[in-house]
Order: sequence, then structure tokens, then C-alpha cells
Amino acid sequence: MSKPLVALVGRPNVGKSTLFNRLAGERLAVVAETPGTTRDRLVAEVEWGGRIFDMVDTGGIDPTILRGGEPLSLDSVDYLDQIRSQAELAARDADLVLLVVDVEEGLTAADQEVAQILRRARGKGPTAPVLLVANKADNAERRAQAMEFYELGMGEPVAVSALHGTGAGDLLDRMLDLLGEAKAPEPEADDRIHIAIVGRPNVGKSSLLNRLLGEERVIVSPIPGTTRDAIDTHLTFHGTPLTLIDTAGIRRRGRIEPGVEKYSVLRALKAIDRADVVLLLIDAVDGVTAQDAHIGGLAVEKLKSIVLVINKWDAVSKDTHTMDEYAQRVRQELKFLDYVPALFISARTGQRVAKVLPTALQVHEERLFRVPTATLNVWLREALEAHAPPTRGGKRLKIYYASQVRTDPPTFVFHVNDRRLVHFTYARYLENQIRARHNFLGTPLRLLFRPRRRDAA
Ligand code: GDP
Ligand code: GDP
Repeated sequence: MSKPLVALVGRPNVGKSTLFNRLAGERLAVVAETPGTTRDRLVAEVEWGGRIFDMVDTGGIDPTILRGGEPLSLDSVDYLDQIRSQAELAARDADLVLLVVDVEEGLTAADQEVAQILRRARGKGPTAPVLLVANKADNAERRAQAMEFYELGMGEPVAVSALHGTGAGDLLDRMLDLLGEAKAPEPEADDRIHIAIVGRPNVGKSSLLNRLLGEERVIVSPIPGTTRDAIDTHLTFHGTPLTLIDTAGIRRRGRIEPGVEKYSVLRALKAIDRADVVLLLIDAVDGVTAQDAHIGGLAVEKLKSIVLVINKWDAVSKDTHTMDEYAQRVRQELKFLDYVPALFISARTGQRVAKVLPTALQVHEERLFRVPTATLNVWLREALEAHAPPTRGGKRLKIYYASQVRTDPPTFVFHVNDRRLVHFTYARYLENQIRARHNFLGTPLRLLFRPRRRDAA
């Protein structure tokens, strides 16, 4: 089972992203140490009362992700449309919806509309419970005003101030009550390697799955596992037990509401969360789109290993340079995935499909690679000599030593004099220096910086 997913919905400016950061709290600070993940965070893991859940700010989801095409401007009619779709998708695919409203502004027509969409979604099938959050309740008077939102028919509003943090603890308690014990996440009980097949609609996820299952060395277990979000296929490949997580299959079986995008980023996120390795499918004919980059970004945030699979290669007319040029363009558009292997395949003709599972297993191997401490510190010294750490306010960053504290994903701790001196670009440099010596193919690295503890006097 996957981790519970909480989605924040509401009109712009009510304070969703402020609340997101507030609830993510400590956790966020830790993750922010990973180069490249400080900006535009959409998903955060929250821990409260011994429970862990994921939180998504749907307001932060690029409108182009759900709709395709050009970004929408904030005041366009389409933008409201966008909020409606997000609310509906959240109701369907999240485990809890936080409907955020703004006490300062008071009840607006847009709030009414979002509430109505959530209610209407209930009529169409099972939906997530909704918790009404009255934000910007910065003082007693504003807290009293929160009561006006009873009118939305979404139960008792929980008054909070995302800005000051008041009410956040109570809110988290209420959230856990609603998530309930029944949905407590069970860790994947087996030691199978979980591989998620993700990508936009029609990139060929189902076609690839069928091809993979038809491969000679693949032995498929007759019992599929079905979760609310995906269909799991258990198989053995060259003696290695694997589980393929297929989000496309569920979509086929599910009811598709007209007007609402069939593809759910939230569902992809849940599949990614359960995976060790993500096969990110891209349509070779369309090229890299904003959605592809976005899904790749989610996989990186979740520190998953990735294989880029450029499908429908048969449909691209080529000469001798095509693949190189194409690969370069893909690299350019997905710069943040520069350590990820790319395969050019055709699920239709079967071309190079045989490379998919071996490459997935290879990047999984890399997740488990450990650099011996002595070796790592030789690398560190070389890196420091080649390019001295930066100074800030006359103070120079000192890195005393490093160790790889864990694998899966590979996590490195650098002991430093003052972590505030660690500039993003220098962290990036250190990561590149590690990769230059061991490339950790397809696998994100986590770099943590810790102040050296004072020697015991
Ligand atoms: P979003 O568009 O819903 O994500 O809203 P933001 O989180 O960007 O917040 C919109 C504005 O409201 C920003 O200027 C925030 O500083 C402000 N804001 C957010 N939470 C609070 C709060 O609890 N109290 C007050 N007074 N302002 C807040
Ligand atoms: P999904 O929505 O991602 O599961 O995509 P499907 O597997 O349903 O494929 C969508 C469409 O693309 C179908 O019409 C497939 O026949 C077609 N398709 C899938 N793979 C390939 C391929 O390698 N080459 C070509 N030319 N078409 C493909």
C-alpha cells in the first residue's frame, strides 16, 4: 500500500503554499539540503504523531501538466477551470483533501464553487474526506470569523495561521484522525524490486508493459496485485523478482469523467512513491513536454532511480545522426536528469525493448552501491584541492570529512564547520565530483551537510 496522500486545494492566494511549507516544517529543511530540490516543491513528506504522509500543493501543479499545452495566466477563465479540475482529481485520487479558505478575505464565490465540486465528486464515487481549513486566522477576532465558512457545508472549519504557525498542531491531529488507522502505510513487505511505468497518456505505457510481459526471460505470476492506484504485475526476470507498477491499467478500468483530464499526476506520484526505479516514458514523436519534465522532477524529489524510455522510435524518420541529435536535445530539455540513461525503443516493433529491464536492474544496482569511507575522503581531498570551497562574509567553508551513511538512495554526509556556508553551486560541484569517479547511473544522490560536533572537552 502506498503512503497516504493529502492534497491542498483552494483558490489562489488563500495561503496554500505557506501552509504547505508550515506543515512540511522540519522535514523540508532536511530535504532542502539536496541540491536542486529547494525550489518549487510540490510534494513533501510530513511526519506527525508517528505517522508519515505525503502532502501535495495542487496550486503548485503547473496547469500545463493537467491540460497539456501552454501555461494559463492567473486571471484567465481557464485558470478557474484548472482549479476545478484539480479539486475533482484531488477528491478522487488523494486520501484527504484540505480545502483552504482565507478568513481575511472572507467567503467568496470561488470558495463556494470549489466546495460544490468536491460535493459533486462525492456523488460520482468514493472520494477523499475533506477538511476545511480557515487560514490567516492570525488573532482571536479572525479565528471567530472562521465560523462564517460553516456555510460551505464542509463541516467545522479548522482555524489556522500558516504565517505564524498557530493551530498547525491541531490541524495535523485532525488530519491524522481523518486519515484513520485503516490507511496506515504498510511498507512493501517483500524485497522485490518495484518498477513504476509512468508517463503522459498515450506514450505507450500499456504497450510497453505487454511487450515486457511477453519477453522470453520473463516469468509472470498469475496473481496480479491491485491497489486503488495501480495494477501490480509480479514477475521474475533472470531469477530476480520484480513488481511492475502500472498506472495505465487502472485508468482503462476506471470511469473517465468527461471534461476532466484522464491522467492524474497524483496517481503517478503514488506509483512513483512505491517504486525503486521509475521508467519515465516519453513519446519520441512529441518530444519532451513540460509534463514529462514535471513527472521526472517528482521522481527526483522522491529520490528514485530513473530510466528515460523514449518510445515510438519506429515513428521517427531518421538518418545516421538522428539518434545522437535527438539524444542531445532530450538531454538539453531534461538537464536535471543528466545522470539518467536513455533508451530509444519501440513498444510496437519490439526494438530495444529487451534493454529495458536490464537497464532498470542496472540503475537499481547503483542505488545499492557504497563508496568506502577511505575512498570517499580521497575523492573529497582531490575535489577540495581542485576547487576550494567558497567564503562568505570572510568565513571559509571547511569540509573535514565525508562518509556515505546509507544506500538506497546513496546518502552522503559532509562534516563542515558551518552549513550556512554551503552554497548550492558548491554542493552541486561535490555531487559532480562524486559522479565523475562513480557515476551512480540513473540514481539521485543525497548530500547532507552537518556541523562538526564540538570535541568533548
Ligand atoms: P496560495 O496561492 O494559496 O499558495 O497562497 P500563498 O501561500 O502564496 O499566500 C498568499 C499570501 O497570503 C502571501 O502573501 C502570504 O504571505 C499570505 N499568507 C499566507 N498565510 C497567511 C496567514 O496565515 N496570515 C496572513 N496574514 N497572511 C498569510
Ligand atoms: P498509454 O496510454 O501510455 O498506456 O499508451 P498505449 O500503450 O495505450 O499506446 C497509445 C497509442 O500509441 C496506441 O495507439 C499504441 O498503439 C501507440 N503506440 C504505443 N507504442 C508505440 C510505438 O512504439 N510506436 C508507435 N508507432 N506507436 C505506439
